[in-house]
Amino acid sequence: MKSKHDVLIIGGGPVGLSCAYYLLKSGRRVTLLDANEIGRGSGSGNAGHIVPSHIIPLAAPGVVTSALKWMLDPAHSPFGMKVSLDPNYLSWLLKFVLACSEANVLRSIKPLNDLGQLSAKNFAQIVAEDKFDCAYQEKGLLFLYKTEKAFHDGQHEGEFIQKHGIPVSVYDKAKIHAVEPAALDDVIGGVHFTGDAHLNPAVFLSLLKERVKSMGAELMNGTQVIGFNSANGKVTKIKTTAGDFEAEQIVLAAGALTPSIAEDLKLNIPIQPARGYSTTMSATKTMPSHALILGERRVAVSPMGEVLRFTGRLEVGNYSMEPNPVWIQRIENSAREYLRLDEKLDVKETWAGLRPTTPDGMPIIGKSPQHSNLIFATGHAMLGLSLGPGTGQVVAELLNGQEPAVSLSPMRLDRF
Ligand SMILES: Cc1cc2nc3c(=O)[nH]c(=O)nc-3n(C[C@H](O)[C@H](O)[C@H](O)COP(=O)(O)OP(=O)(O)OC[C@H]3O[C@@H](n4cnc5c(N)ncnc54)[C@H](O)[C@@H]3O)c2cc1C
Repeated sequence: MKSKHDVLIIGGGPVGLSCAYYLLKSGRRVTLLDANEIGRGSGSGNAGHIVPSHIIPLAAPGVVTSALKWMLDPAHSPFGMKVSLDPNYLSWLLKFVLACSEANVLRSIKPLNDLGQLSAKNFAQIVAEDKFDCAYQEKGLLFLYKTEKAFHDGQHEGEFIQKHGIPVSVYDKAKIHAVEPAALDDVIGGVHFTGDAHLNPAVFLSLLKERVKSMGAELMNGTQVIGFNSANGKVTKIKTTAGDFEAEQIVLAAGALTPSIAEDLKLNIPIQPARGYSTTMSATKTMPSHALILGERRVAVSPMGEVLRFTGRLEVGNYSMEPNPVWIQRIENSAREYLRLDEKLDVKETWAGLRPTTPDGMPIIGKSPQHSNLIFATGHAMLGLSLGPGTGQVVAELLNGQEPAVSLSPMRLDRF
């Protein structure tokens, strides 16, 4: 048994690392465990988009119909799902379908907006104060469209989001080609969320890891949590492959694997993995000058200095982190439908990651209903990087008994 730790964080992804940073800043001593390598999990190969404009949750009206339509065109569908009779999976699917309502959207907008704005401000501060050289750019997120129907729907969504204080610009054909010269001639318009930003997530996470280390965090790679003991409303022991630990406070930030860890505490956490892929290429002659979403294909594009990344697919229920070469190629093909790319690009890395997805599209941040020294910070789905530094700040505030900067009641586990 190791000596008692102050705060022990399980999971070194963007959420766990951000919690470590803000807890250390608040004067706590931090131990951060990861089953694999800190900073290299589902956060490292993602699109790197920092998107306070994403205030509409994944569970929204029309999503189920769109998903069914997409599945009729399997070679281009941005969406897929596992076929399984696993009761947890089926219960998650049912909850998701029921949450795809206007009421869920209206309930989620304020919490996502508040946490997104806080997080974007924190990113800018960390990058500036800690001098992080991670291809960070505040140039917004630009959606490109090739069809009138998708452009019209995109404008409509942009107008709705703008009503909630998010800056949005709509570009006609002439303007979109002036703003984004990498777009091919048949791109007819764009919607620009000008308050968004992007960066290279692997570089950011590696710099954040070094920063928390220099602030005094004890970092343990290859240390998998395999169970807990609890007594009198507290977690008393954390069992790992590197031995048992005791801690005053525990933060559970294990992404899509959080439910299997929490099972040992008899807690049911409704999270399913939503797998996606990325392919990172050498720079092309006409590099896109913005972070992009290719509207009809739902593929993300991220220029990151010397490299260019394409990201896509959302496959619910799959835990494997093997990149699928067929989808990697299709994602590149989609990018070629919108962008001026060199005929041959060198592939630097192909990757798969898991988005930890709740049925209502909102994260789970808050204290365990049954354990006074356990806090959850998980379920951020497609926004775990974007909402990381905001989550880190509110978790530190909650753990230190302060009023969190953002109301956490809509994010409690017991809403399910
Ligand atoms: C294709 C794709 C593109 C994306 N693009 C974006 C984007 O542009 N912007 C954005 O904000 N988000 C994006 N995301 C989502 C984002 O990557 C996730 O939301 C984020 O990684 C979740 O962070 P996390 O820290 O909660 O979990 P993770 O990143 O999954 O980290 C959890 C960590 O916990 C560790 N762990 C698991 N089990 C145990 C255990 N038993 N013991 C110890 N450690 C354990 C894991 O090894 C892992 O390192 C994207 C995701 C994908 C797949």
